[in-house]
Amino acid sequence: MSQLFLTNSLTRRKEAFVPIDPGHVRIYVCGPTVYDYAHIGNARPVVVFDVLARLLRRLYPRVTYVRNVTDVDDKINAAAKANNEPIGALTSRTYRAFVEDMAALGALPPDIEPRVTETIGPIIALIERLIANGHAYVADGHVLFSVPSKLDYGLLSRRSRDEMIAGARVDVAPYKQDPADFVLWKPSTPDLPGWDSPWGRGRPGWHIECSAMSWRHLGPEFDIHGGGVDLTFPHHENEIAQSTGAFPGTRFARYWVHNGFLMVNGEKMSKSLGNFFTVRDVLKMAPGEAMRLVLLKTHYRDPLDFTWARLDEARAELDRFYRALEAASGGEVAPDVPVPGPVMDALCDDLNTPLALSRLHELGAAALAGDAGAAAGMRAAGTVLGLLQQDPADWFRAGTDAGLAAEIEQAIAARRAARARKDFTEADRIRKALADRGIVLEDKPGGATVWRRA
Ligand SMILES: [Zn+2]
Repeated sequence: MSQLFLTNSLTRRKEAFVPIDPGHVRIYVCGPTVYDYAHIGNARPVVVFDVLARLLRRLYPRVTYVRNVTDVDDKINAAAKANNEPIGALTSRTYRAFVEDMAALGALPPDIEPRVTETIGPIIALIERLIANGHAYVADGHVLFSVPSKLDYGLLSRRSRDEMIAGARVDVAPYKQDPADFVLWKPSTPDLPGWDSPWGRGRPGWHIECSAMSWRHLGPEFDIHGGGVDLTFPHHENEIAQSTGAFPGTRFARYWVHNGFLMVNGEKMSKSLGNFFTVRDVLKMAPGEAMRLVLLKTHYRDPLDFTWARLDEARAELDRFYRALEAASGGEVAPDVPVPGPVMDALCDDLNTPLALSRLHELGAAALAGDAGAAAGMRAAGTVLGLLQQDPADWFRAGTDAGLAAEIEQAIAARRAARARKDFTEADRIRKALADRGIVLEDKPGGATVWRRA
């Protein structure tokens, strides 16, 4: 079995991955806050950790992958107010859109998707533990985490105390004992979501939500915690402080894995720069598999620069892969074929997807020359990368809207009729007219005609 190596943000080193229980690997990834459509930056961790989960499932007998849904958050409250929409309607509508978008990108659902609204009991229990252990205090209806009480605070982000206070952008509220202290629980007004607690009706802060959801589903100590590098501080730092503060002697997550930023045209994506794209915007331009390939062509730790040219490039690359599959195997999916060693080795080396993809291209060249074994290997590699699982014929029709597809079928029928009455001039004219629009016809033995994008 291949040995997996991962870069651990906690040690800043690439380390051999050794699970706590080799019979059951446990991973937690910070999930979406459901108040708006997912943007392409949100898609990156979903696809990266989908590949990691698929790889872990190849390597270990059992994997539990937990990705939370943050459905209690001040951004949600603000968006619901701005849309004049009930909070529950906003969060369930947004969650459904998220599920659709991530499925379009080929991401499998995690094993468990806990929601904050279903985890209030564990959140309150965790805060009570923190108070009992001297790491939290009640002030003015709030419960705050006492940062100075945790001597090892800051291990993950390694920032100075001043940097931490500035970076956290926390309010310097009068009820705080220390400016770095952060909110675990805050009071709610009657118009906002709230739950009864020992500290009055209120709602949790964001950081404690992830500590509670990972604890509930994976226990106080588990193998891998993932998320975007932008979450390292303060979110992940605070998760560590809360979870190890509530359960002294435990280490919370053993391996911290962070994916890099996503930029657009070399700039930070922002609505004001006009370079802000949702996953839905991209899916209008190309199949989800092409976007997934864009995300995997850059190593997960590196910054990724999205451009429309890169999306076109990825689509053309998938055309080459699917042409190779078609040439070698006619597109059948063979089960139980092992992932080719060179691809597996690349993925086990800190999820080196760019190297794995270049090895997939080598297999593609062999498949194009008719090597059916290479094509089967490409399919098997694709099960870990989440690529190349379609029938090539479907891929070559992908991204064609229903109206155009119907028009093409009509043209094929008209051509068939022309040939039947031996009007070959008209039949050729129809074929040429479609070719001019990038649609290629193929006459199959037996008389059927199929079409594909050129
Ligand atoms: Zn989180």
